[in-house]
Amino acid sequence: MVHEELKREMIAVCNFMNDKGINQGTSGNVSVRVDGGLLITPSGVAYAEMVPDDIVMMHEDASHEGTRRPSTEWRFHRDLIAKKPEVGAVIHLHSRFCTSLSMLRREIPAVHYMIAAAGGPTIPCVPYVTWGTQELADLIVGALADRQACLLANHGMVAIGANLKKAAALAVEVETLAAQYWHALQVGVPYVLPDDEIERVIEKFKSYGQGKDPDRLPSCC
Ligand SMILES: [Zn+2]
Repeated sequence: MVHEELKREMIAVCNFMNDKGINQGTSGNVSVRVDGGLLITPSGVAYAEMVPDDIVMMHEDASHEGTRRPSTEWRFHRDLIAKKPEVGAVIHLHSRFCTSLSMLRREIPAVHYMIAAAGGPTIPCVPYVTWGTQELADLIVGALADRQACLLANHGMVAIGANLKKAAALAVEVETLAAQYWHALQVGVPYVLPDDEIERVIEKFKSYGQGKDPDRLPSCC
């Protein structure tokens, strides 16, 4: 079967996110770049019940193959894959802490140096527009011009990566950062690291992990 192994990897990542408690019901969705388009999780199928045949092959013109309909959020998945050649995978979640901050329409500032893994000193929060729309897709593509992750106001978050493992690792990292920021806000006003420090960390990350697992996110350890 075409892309069988990749489809199994997508399902494994979906179940991993469920096990981590960072997804909510059938709300999250995942896509991966393949020749001629993308593979995307279907609309309205619980991760725990998903089988490879449920994954939808979507072409660049948005036509699709398979027994299922693609996720209703296919527009931003398709556009991110089409417009950003370095992107191999896209993950969208309604994870608890990212979504809670998105309800406040608050970006995540550089309250921890690991924000550099998302590409800059902030994780922006795009304005609210209705799910599934081209307007939302355009806002997300704009926000991710120089970032690897963003929040969606009153909705959730998106993370991208060169491959599925990297996108999933970043999604976990961003949700962790959102949780840490949320907790710090309960006590006081968190200190924000200056932009030039985040630039230094981004540079250090570029040389991190050479010869190690390339799918790991960089860190201090
Ligand atoms: Zn959503």
